[in-house]
Amino acid sequence: MKYNADTKTWESLVKLGENDQMSFIVCRGRGQRIQEGKYTLWFCAECFTKFCTPRTPPDYNTVTKENYSEYIAFSQKIKDTPKENIVEVLSANAITFGIPLEYLKGKERLKILEVGCSYGYFTHALRKLGHDAFGIDVSEEAIEFAKNTFGDYYGLKAEGKYDVIVSIETIEHVEDPVGFIKQYVGMLNPNGALILTTPNLEFYFKIFWDLLQKFAQSMETINLKERLHIVETLYKDYMWVTDPPPIHLSLFTHFSFERIAQQNSMHVKFIDLHKQKGEVAPIVGAIITV
Ligand SMILES: [Zn+2]
Repeated sequence: MKYNADTKTWESLVKLGENDQMSFIVCRGRGQRIQEGKYTLWFCAECFTKFCTPRTPPDYNTVTKENYSEYIAFSQKIKDTPKENIVEVLSANAITFGIPLEYLKGKERLKILEVGCSYGYFTHALRKLGHDAFGIDVSEEAIEFAKNTFGDYYGLKAEGKYDVIVSIETIEHVEDPVGFIKQYVGMLNPNGALILTTPNLEFYFKIFWDLLQKFAQSMETINLKERLHIVETLYKDYMWVTDPPPIHLSLFTHFSFERIAQQNSMHVKFIDLHKQKGEVAPIVGAIITV
C-alpha cells in the first residue's frame, strides 16, 4: 500500500480493482486479493471473511512461552476458585468465556468437549460447574501441563459423542475452518451444539469507520499529505487486525458462519452480549446445530 505524494495517485488501491477473483475456502464465494507478500491476504465478497494463503499453521506441539506465566497464574486461579465464583472469575477475565457460559446457563451434567483447550483451565472450570468435560489441544506441552495441574481429562484427540463441543478462539488458527466445523458437528449427540468463539472482523471495521469519521471532522486542521498518511496507516493496520499469519489464518464475521451453515445443511444462532447495548461485539459467538 503506497500513496505516491508526487503524482497524487493511489497506485496500490488501483490494484484492488484488478480482476483478482477466486473461489474462496470458507464459503465458496467470490472475492479479491487484498494484499500480496509472504502471505497473500484475501477478502470474500460474499461472507466478508478475510484469510491468508498459504495456510500452513505453525507447529503448536511446542507452545510459545511468551504468555506462559500468565496462563499458569490463571490456571492456578481457576483451580483455587470455588464453584460459586467460577462464572464471575471467568467472565471478568475475558468476554469470550461469557458466550459458552451464557449457552450453558441452567444446563447441568452435560458431556462437553473443549477443542483447543490450551492449558486446560476452561475445561476444568466446566467440570467444577458439574459438567463431564474433556479437553483436547494440538499442543503436547499444554496437554501435559493441563493433566499435571487439573487431572486426567485431557488429550490430543477425542472420540465419541458430546452434548456440547466448545471451541474458544481456535477456528481462526485452523487450516480448513469448514472441515473443522464439519468434523465436530459430526461428533454431536442429537440436539447437541457446537459453540465457536472468534474475533469479530465487523468490530474492527467499526473502529476503522469511527476513526475515518474522526479524521474527516478534522479536515480543516490537518493538511492533505498528513491526512493521506493517516489513511494509509489506518488501511494497513486494518488489513489484518489480530495476530498475523501464520498464527491467525482467517478472520470471520457473523456472515461467515451464516454462509457455512447454509452451505452445509446446518443451523446457526449467535450469542451477542453487546447487541442490547447497541455495540458491535468484539467476538463472534456462533452456536451451530444440525
Ligand atoms: Zn465467503
